[in-house]
Amino acid sequence: MTVEKGGRRRYGAAMASNAPQGAPRTRKPDWIRVKAPTSHGVSETRRLMRDLNLHTVCEEAACPNIGECWTKKHATVMILGDTCTRACAFCNIKTGMPRAVDPLEPEHVARVAVTMGLSHIVITSVDRDDLPDGGASQFVKVIEALRRDAPQTTIEILTPDFRNKPMAAVEAIIAARPDVYNHNLETVPRLYPTIRPGARYYASLRLLESVKRMDPSIFTKSGIMLGLGEERMEVHQVMDDMRSADIDFLTMGQYLQPTPRHAKVVDFVTPDAFAAYAQIARAKGFLQVASSPLTRSSYHAGEDFAQMRAARAAQLAKIG
Ligand code: SF4
Repeated sequence: MTVEKGGRRRYGAAMASNAPQGAPRTRKPDWIRVKAPTSHGVSETRRLMRDLNLHTVCEEAACPNIGECWTKKHATVMILGDTCTRACAFCNIKTGMPRAVDPLEPEHVARVAVTMGLSHIVITSVDRDDLPDGGASQFVKVIEALRRDAPQTTIEILTPDFRNKPMAAVEAIIAARPDVYNHNLETVPRLYPTIRPGARYYASLRLLESVKRMDPSIFTKSGIMLGLGEERMEVHQVMDDMRSADIDFLTMGQYLQPTPRHAKVVDFVTPDAFAAYAQIARAKGFLQVASSPLTRSSYHAGEDFAQMRAARAAQLAKIG
């Protein structure tokens, strides 16, 4: 454990960057190093996405796992364009006024699932505060197209918070029945004003709680980034909040500063500390936990979904 100036306690903080915002990024520890994305699978996936006019969060968010995931033909499709109406301090996706919604997008996403032979697909989007339903109807169309054209593919969605949008927007998505509904809390509530200023912690939590209440058969999932200056007890509190909202699956990964303009990394949390957090999360009752420096909400999503489904089946068998 590290004790910082001011007496705040962190868990497994291996190194700290004191560089001010705008200064060069701190050197990453060895456990963060990843292979350059050069395989045939990577170029094939890139070509497919370009041909279908689709974007991926893998590229737009500069994900460190792109080499591994794309080699294995696992990609997270980002719908509703490549321009976000919000400007979170951690996120590399460009901000601005987005273009009109592409009516062919649902069909194209389904084509990706068929062409790549995906058993599980993750669909996310930029925030679309400019649209009356926040883009919920496009999520519905994508789910319907996938069910029609790729009925064997299980569907995981990672949505915005739909803050200030009618509840009917979320209800429509639930009625379309994705297998997994993911919405990331991203960080502890204390850091929201600087890290996620356009969002509200309890609104995000309530969104996930509502999904579970509307359809308990849908798995709910959420994640946070570590290394932004959060304290250990704050992370434990987030876990408790998530369990109160009946969230099934927790992901935790290391925050990496995408450019010098973004929030700086405060700590590189060690792999052992990630493992300790995972142990605590399991004890708190999550059905599935993924916690490591390179964990991202869609990393190994297919394998994790299969394990989570098996865990629920085992739980139900015990009860009944
Ligand atoms: S972890 Fe998710 S976002 Fe990153 S490359 Fe893999 S699928 Fe894409």
